[in-house]
Amino acid sequence: MTIEKLGNLNDKKFYILGEEWTIKVVSTEDKNPIAKILKVQNASMLTQLYKKEIWVGIDNYVSTDETQQMPNNNPAIDQDLTHELYHAFYYESGLDSCAMLSEDEAWPRNETMIDWNAKMFPKILKVRRTLGISDNF
Ligand SMILES: [Zn+2]
Repeated sequence: MTIEKLGNLNDKKFYILGEEWTIKVVSTEDKNPIAKILKVQNASMLTQLYKKEIWVGIDNYVSTDETQQMPNNNPAIDQDLTHELYHAFYYESGLDSCAMLSEDEAWPRNETMIDWNAKMFPKILKVRRTLGISDNF
C-alpha cells in the first residue's frame, strides 16, 4: 500500500465479524492523546479494542532522509495493518478475552504470534489460491 492510499483510509469504516470499526490516520505530532501514545511508543499503528479503532501514525512511514526515495508500495504498511486486523479479529471473536488474566503472555495478545500471523497470512493465501481452496467453509 502507498502512503497516499493509507492517508485516504482516514475515518474509513469496515466490519469485523459484524462489528463496525474505524481507521484513524493521524500525525504523531497531533495533539490527540492516541497520537501522543503512538509517538511515545514509537509505534506505527495501534488498535483501540474497546473503541473498535485502528490508529495509524502516518509520519512513521515517511522517510526523513530526503536522499532516500520512498517506494511506491510500502510492504510495512500492509504488514502492520494486517497485524492490527489480527488484534481486532481476536478481540471480536472472543479470543482476546481469554487473554485477560495473563495479558501479553497469552497467545491472543502475544505480539510475536500476531506478527507471525500477519507475515504468514499472504503466504498462506497464495498457497490456498494455488490449490483452489474455497473461501466458503
Ligand atoms: Zn500488536
